[in-house]
Amino acid sequence: MDINKLLQRLEEADDAYTNGKPIMTDLAYDLLKDKVLKFLPPDHPRIAKVGHAPSSAWPKETHSIFMGSQNKVCTVDAIREWVAKTLKALGVKKTRFILQYKLDGFSLGVDYLNGKLSKAITRGDGTIGENITPNAMMFRRLPTYLVVGKGVSVRGEGLISKENYAKIQAATGDHYKNPRNAASGISRRLDGSHSKYVEVVTYDINAKVQNESDKVKVLEQLGFSVVETFVFEDVQEIVDKYIEVKDKLRPTLPYDIDGLVLKVDSVEQQEKLGIKDNRPEGQVALKFDSDQAITVVLSIALQVGRTGKITPVAILEPVDLMGSTVTKATLHNFAYIEENQIGIGSEVVIEKKGDIIPQVVDVATTGEEYKKPTKCPSCGGPLEDDGTNMWCFNPGCRERETNRIAYWIKVLDMKGFSGKFILKMWDEGKVRSVGDLYKLTTDDFVGIDGLGDKKVKAFFEILKSTSEMYLDKFIVALGIPSVSSGTAEDLVKHFKTWDAILSVTPEDMMKIPGYADTSARAVCSGVRDVRDMAEELLKAIRIKEKKVGALTGKTICITGALTTVGRKEAEKMIVDQGGSFKNSVSRDLDYLVTNDPNSGSGKNAEAKKVNDLAIKAGNPPPIKVISEKDFMALVGTTVEAKAEEKKEKEKKDSGVTLVYNNIFEED
Ligand SMILES: [Zn+2]
Repeated sequence: MDINKLLQRLEEADDAYTNGKPIMTDLAYDLLKDKVLKFLPPDHPRIAKVGHAPSSAWPKETHSIFMGSQNKVCTVDAIREWVAKTLKALGVKKTRFILQYKLDGFSLGVDYLNGKLSKAITRGDGTIGENITPNAMMFRRLPTYLVVGKGVSVRGEGLISKENYAKIQAATGDHYKNPRNAASGISRRLDGSHSKYVEVVTYDINAKVQNESDKVKVLEQLGFSVVETFVFEDVQEIVDKYIEVKDKLRPTLPYDIDGLVLKVDSVEQQEKLGIKDNRPEGQVALKFDSDQAITVVLSIALQVGRTGKITPVAILEPVDLMGSTVTKATLHNFAYIEENQIGIGSEVVIEKKGDIIPQVVDVATTGEEYKKPTKCPSCGGPLEDDGTNMWCFNPGCRERETNRIAYWIKVLDMKGFSGKFILKMWDEGKVRSVGDLYKLTTDDFVGIDGLGDKKVKAFFEILKSTSEMYLDKFIVALGIPSVSSGTAEDLVKHFKTWDAILSVTPEDMMKIPGYADTSARAVCSGVRDVRDMAEELLKAIRIKEKKVGALTGKTICITGALTTVGRKEAEKMIVDQGGSFKNSVSRDLDYLVTNDPNSGSGKNAEAKKVNDLAIKAGNPPPIKVISEKDFMALVGTTVEAKAEEKKEKEKKDSGVTLVYNNIFEED
């Protein structure tokens, strides 16, 4: 089957249909379309084009009230100035302000008539947007019915959480360049697929209230998800919050934000300040602009990932970004380069968020035409092109295989096994797969530079410590792209053994909540792809039985540091008692461990929100927020005992730890 020919045929059918001269029956057309869709990644750029230009496909609609934009400031001084100017314009010495997260998605206006969702329109140019109501009906956290009979208009932001973004990327072959891009693209997909991953967080409603903060309360009572809102009177507090969110909280949030919005709380004062150039004078966006910069692409390098995916990386003219010099940024995939005509000499906007590597997010000027590679940069083998990404499937590819080994080592936290070490062992011909690590003998180290007896001994100790593990950990370490730790847990919970997991079908997978067709298929084919690797490893690794204990069936998340144990050890204590360790807070979490429930941690805030909502609905709060002391009691020990243990261990380990950390220098 030649997928390109099928695509071409489908496009001919579309053209013919548009011209009023169909060349096939509707049924034949549907079958053909179905086939093409199945063989391309769901977000292949050409799928969106099938049949219709996406931008003209949705009906256009005029907003009842213009959806304006905001003035922006991006320094602390400018924030102070804006506050002073606003107070002066109001003729007051003091007033109340609110700060809200500026969510990084797409703006949406939603109307309800007689309590029923009647219309959802994107911002568009502010006057006219696209009516995407059928998709909006599937968005998460956007009620379709309200208890209010009157006409209700709501404004909010459609977005995709970091967690769901990872799932979508896995299912679509990393098609989207960031969560915002994915949210906006998916919301306008004609077939509505993935719409359920878009969630709507609201901030405005046509309710007659005195304050902006009251609007948020009304929205919440009506069942909407609302934007995080802080109330302040003092400019210093506003500045402090801005800095805290920008430097600390931002990476911990479940979704991306690109700033904060500062508003005068009083609606009357807002009206008094008025609107100038379509921008309300009573509010301003506080941007985190310093994390973007513009620079020139000097060349395009290629990296081969553990799955064989080739990632194009822009080598940049060095530029300052958030206090460090950036010289490269990811270009996402080859479709992105082509769509944006990026090449040597392009001026690109790069962005850095949290700990993730800098990425190209916008293109100011196009560059020299870029020719896609035809051979793997590492092994010289042939590449496969799926339209978005290129892949090297050569099992002997040095970069691909060493990255796979490196991933295993990272997941299992095997200290001292640096990237350099793996490359060295590869080049010596000693290690060609993850399984080979476990076949090494002391003889293999003879004659290798920089390896003394002590280091070799430490090496084998670490290997031994990873020769048995729980099945979910094993699955995560295999590095299957569409399998997160949550997915691994689901697999183990529902199918119990590796053999059973190997024969899971997408249909079985879809019976588990949270897995739709595409993600179920991605998981199953991903599992099959690592079958041989797993088989080889299972000759050396013993899978431990899940323990049954005080925490069986419970999920626990930790925020902030614990005084007596590290995160890894706490995780182990949870697992040893049969519980599951979670990295994020959600409705189904059982315990959140924190020594400071009032800290600014995003997890604390999220837990409070979940519990408050439940209480409001007359239910018991689902998440128990407990201290380190409570936690220790739960797992059958005490803080005092653990503190003593820690002291003893430090004494004993002082020499050994040093050796482990220094087997090889990190890259
Ligand atoms: Zn290769």
